[in-house]
Amino acid sequence: MKKQRVKLTTTEKSELIVEAIVTIILLLLLNLSIVILIHLTFLQDPNLKHGVFFFREHFLLFNGEISSAAQIVTLIMIVGDFVVLYWRLTRRYRQMQLRHIIDELHDIAEGNFDHRINFLVNRNLQKVVESINLLIDSTVNTMSEERAIEKSKDELITNISHDIRTPLTSIIGYLGLLKQENISAEDQAKYLDIAYNKANQMKSLVNDLFEYTKLSSTDAKLNIVKINIYSMLEQIAAGFELEASNHNISIEVTARPKDLEIEADPEKLVRVFNNLIGNAFKYGKTATKIVLEANLVNKDQVELRVENNGEPIEDKLLKRIFDRLYRVETSRNSETGGTGLGLAITKGVVELHHGSVRCESNKDWTSFIIRLPLKATVL
Ligand code: ATP
Ligand code: MG
Repeated sequence: MKKQRVKLTTTEKSELIVEAIVTIILLLLLNLSIVILIHLTFLQDPNLKHGVFFFREHFLLFNGEISSAAQIVTLIMIVGDFVVLYWRLTRRYRQMQLRHIIDELHDIAEGNFDHRINFLVNRNLQKVVESINLLIDSTVNTMSEERAIEKSKDELITNISHDIRTPLTSIIGYLGLLKQENISAEDQAKYLDIAYNKANQMKSLVNDLFEYTKLSSTDAKLNIVKINIYSMLEQIAAGFELEASNHNISIEVTARPKDLEIEADPEKLVRVFNNLIGNAFKYGKTATKIVLEANLVNKDQVELRVENNGEPIEDKLLKRIFDRLYRVETSRNSETGGTGLGLAITKGVVELHHGSVRCESNKDWTSFIIRLPLKATVL
């Protein structure tokens, strides 16, 4: 934005003129009194008069223009008058600039946050103006960030309540059916089963939500211990054996070096792997293989990978996949039953460990890659 000088109002301009006139009058009176004073002093003291003539003859006579003491005194007074006049007027002008800046500040404080002060003022005041503008910028940024957080919280509540209401409605519906008297034992068992499954679905959603909010809170804590990562991965893989044989998928575990040990929170890490492997089963359509891998990449970092050779995830979706509640399938709580909190929790856990997580997907492999520090910094 182009900076401009402070534009004075007519009143301010007249104020300046009055100030100038008053100052000139006062200065003229002062000059007059000085002249009278000098005159009186000279008349009363002839020695002094003689001294001044001597001074003039020896030091100033070579300059032909200033040839008398009266002229010198007049010149000094005129210069002095101009200096005083200039000083008074600039001082008053700066006060007016300040008044304009304060007015602008009031305007901004009343909620006009798009406004910035773009006056061209003297150097020191300019610094103040720039700092004020920066302060407004950062306040506006903080406010819009807060608004975004507020909005995303509202969205979370809306989505979660929708996800809770759907199974709850069917539970109430089936329980209502069960209350009927003329219901066959077979139907009774079927309705009970559905209601039970829906209740479990609700429970896992609430658990996920609880876990997610716990991770996002500032006082989230890790329970760090030394973990032999290979045996942990083997144990996790064993837990998925049944599902793997049902899906005709093989799970392969590798670690380099085999005795690789990391400092991490095992419970939270297991949660991460359970979600990633669960996702590979649920969404890795046509997959025949799931690979769990742990590699030491450099002296203080490990890379953990969960890969499957199923259908790839589209590039444009990859970026959003870690967003809270984001699911590639548009219908929430559909066949696959997820809530979309799994990857957000994964990211939360990894970041709590000061690590990072990303996803790569091509026609051969979909890989979730986690980098963790070998040694935990939070103990
Ligand atoms: P939740 O884990 O909370 O039960 P979810 O599995 O749907 O629900 P996320 O784990 O966060 O949620 O996964 C988000 C979305 O990312 C999934 O809905 C799915 O569309 C996609 N996705 C995740 N992993 C894979 C994968 N291995 N292959 C293909 N798509 C995947
Ligand atoms: Mg999941």
